[in-house]
Amino acid sequence: MTSDRNGPVAAFHADVIGIPTESGAYVLLIQLSDSLPVKLAGRPEITLAPGHYLYCGSARGPGGIKARVGRHMQREKSIRWHVDRLTTKGTVLGVWVFPGGDECELVASLAGMPVPIPGFGSSDCATCASHLLEWPTGAALPFDSRSN
Ligand SMILES: [Zn+2]
Repeated sequence: MTSDRNGPVAAFHADVIGIPTESGAYVLLIQLSDSLPVKLAGRPEITLAPGHYLYCGSARGPGGIKARVGRHMQREKSIRWHVDRLTTKGTVLGVWVFPGGDECELVASLAGMPVPIPGFGSSDCATCASHLLEWPTGAALPFDSRSN
């Protein structure tokens, strides 16, 4: 298969086994089978349509990307981050990992994907409108040759 896109092809992991324990960034692939209302503090409620969503995050703590993604893949947990609202209701299909990477660069690489909820996951980020993006059916990803 050939690709006309540039940039690195990232490793995709469907489960936590094999994910590196290094620090870095990741793009979580989340599937919503049902529509999901999401209310962020101080903002109107927005209902996410069923479909695929991409969440860009980073992990710099102990256990690195593996520990963080392991938490994302666990459905039973207390709501701590915005993304927990999706990972407790939807299904985490997998993750692309970027050891040493930066989550805001990943968001930038996904420019053009719709922003469903402004401010989602990016409350403390000055550059991104959101760290959650919608992945429309058939849209190409810059770091992978798959389509949904
Ligand atoms: Zn950002």
